[in-house]
Amino acid sequence: MKITAVRAHALSYPLDQALWTAHEALKDSSLILVEVEAGGLTGYGIIHGAPMKAIADWVVRFGEIIDGDDALAHEIIWNKLFMLTVPRPRAMFGADGLVPPIARSARAQVMAAIGGIDIALWDLKGKAAKMPVYKLLGGQNRPVFTYSTGGYYPRDATVHSAAEEMAAFVAMGYRAVKLKTGGFSVEEEIERVAAVRAAIPRDTLLMLDLNAAYGLNDCIRFARGVEPYDITWLEEPLHWYLQPDDYVQLAAATRIPLSHGEREIHRFTVRDFIECGAIKYLQFDSTRAAGFTESIKVAQLAEQHGVYVVPHHSPEIHAHLVLALPDVGYCVESHGSAVRDPLPHHVFRDRVTFRDGHIHLADTPGFGLNIDWQAVERYRV
Ligand SMILES: [Mg+2]
Repeated sequence: MKITAVRAHALSYPLDQALWTAHEALKDSSLILVEVEAGGLTGYGIIHGAPMKAIADWVVRFGEIIDGDDALAHEIIWNKLFMLTVPRPRAMFGADGLVPPIARSARAQVMAAIGGIDIALWDLKGKAAKMPVYKLLGGQNRPVFTYSTGGYYPRDATVHSAAEEMAAFVAMGYRAVKLKTGGFSVEEEIERVAAVRAAIPRDTLLMLDLNAAYGLNDCIRFARGVEPYDITWLEEPLHWYLQPDDYVQLAAATRIPLSHGEREIHRFTVRDFIECGAIKYLQFDSTRAAGFTESIKVAQLAEQHGVYVVPHHSPEIHAHLVLALPDVGYCVESHGSAVRDPLPHHVFRDRVTFRDGHIHLADTPGFGLNIDWQAVERYRV
């Protein structure tokens, strides 16, 4: 099944107002839709990353390199593209006809591009086999537990303004909610978490996403301050440069389990976070980097260490992985409010069905993405 075309469509939907996490402003909902054609079928992939033009250009360049390759050989293609990021003999000046070893400054964009192509190849594989991806992996369809993320900071955010939003998710049927935290001082954030806990039922799970807001000592102070509020996990708790050893120290200082993984771009760093024993939940995001093939590899290592797999974002893709992990496939992320992430709601028809705190997948071949091409044209950048 030879690859005959690879395309990338960069799409963006401006938000009515910028929403902040502790770390950065979200001004739009955006994604790159990847198409790979082979054997008369088209596979679709999704990428979340920036700058979108640079990533889309890499998808097209890689498309030329894998043109004519077997679309079912996703491991071979993944490795072929990944190996372009390291030196190889006599590759200086691109003398072997491929791209020269790719500059280190392009790594994040390159790993995102590889991810989008890889997801499209899995979609193609499912379509060729006439099976949903979870079935290819040996999984079984069932409702997948999900939570709604909210509590982003608009300009007029106060210590108490997120509580109502989180309670609204519970009213929609969510049994778990995730609050963005870390944007105010430690003391204000503890008060903010208390306000949310008071606004939702005691049996509703509450996760906290810190977006890397703290150094070790502040994070320990924060964790101890929110321990009385029955927190399911602390997500991405520490500054971006802190390492597994720092997570080990944090884990030893709080009884709240730690979650990490969405900012890692390959399995070799994830391995060290899993093996150090500090994290209980793994959030690797195949749409940000490295694709579904990498997600499977990190999930299998997580399973051996009793680490739950709770992939970041894109439930339409990641639920397939969770369905194939009977012991550690725990949940996927949702956004109960379309205000934060409207684009997927417009671009993907019958995306996933949400009911009773769970998402329900249709038994459609591949990932079951049904593209609204008019929406693609409307939001193309
Ligand atoms: Mg997060």
